[in-house]
Order: sequence, then C-alpha cells, then structure tokens
Amino acid sequence: MPGLDDLYREIILDHYRSPRNRGELPPPATHAVGHNPLCGDEIEVYLDVRDGVVHDIKVGGQGCSISQSSASMMSQAVKGKTVDEVRALVHRFKSMMSIEELDDADASVEVKLGDLEALQGVVKFPVRIKCAVLSWNTLTEALSQATP
Ligand code: ZN
Repeated sequence: MPGLDDLYREIILDHYRSPRNRGELPPPATHAVGHNPLCGDEIEVYLDVRDGVVHDIKVGGQGCSISQSSASMMSQAVKGKTVDEVRALVHRFKSMMSIEELDDADASVEVKLGDLEALQGVVKFPVRIKCAVLSWNTLTEALSQATP
C-alpha cells in the first residue's frame, strides 16, 4: 500500500489479520451481501437492531486488506450505536472517501472515526475507494432491512 504512512498501515494490517466481530447472526438479524467485482471483494453483514440500537453486528467475506480491514473497523465503530448515529457515521466515512459531501450541519456534529481514520489515505487511490466503501454500502442495505 504505497503512500499510506506506517502507523496507518499497521492499523489496517492489524484489522486485516485479526478481524473484529467476525461471524454470523441468526434471524431475526438482517443479512446483506456486497460485492466489488473490480477487486473480487465480498462482504457479508449481519445486523441485530433492537429499539433503534445496533445491538450486535457480525461480518463475513473475503478480499483485499482494504476491504476486510474497513469492514472490521466498521463493525467495531457501529456496535452499540443508535441507527441515527450509524447513519451519521456512514455519511462521515463516505465524505472522507470523497463520495459524499458534508454540509455545515453535518460538520458541526461530532462523529469519532477512531481507527477508521487509518483509511483516509485510500482516497488518493480511486480504484481502492470501492474496496473501502463496500462494507459501508452493505451495512446500509442491512440497516434498511432492519428499519424499513
Ligand atoms: Zn479490494
């Protein structure tokens, strides 16, 4: 991963080698699958939403270090958060990837990205942005099933 500095590369590799919240959840948890054919990445997201809170999340799939580490960091970041907080986090992450824009109201809300900041260097490699965003799109689909 040329261009990503050492600290960020370490965080990404740590999540790639030791993915968090790996596994499956039984129904009524919702389930979505996402593919990134450009890279061959696949992500599965299982989401247990109760009373407007992401009670639990599990992630499966395979692919490159960017796609898998992004999924691992995402699972860590959204677990225990309200649906509204998760939507704000998705928006913030996509704006970091230059896919969505933040307006002033968005920017005034504090959203902690934590380890996810390690992926900010990916924006310099447009072909890898799809890898980084795959799990977030899959999460959004699982979320919309859970909160129709
Ligand atoms: Zn990839």
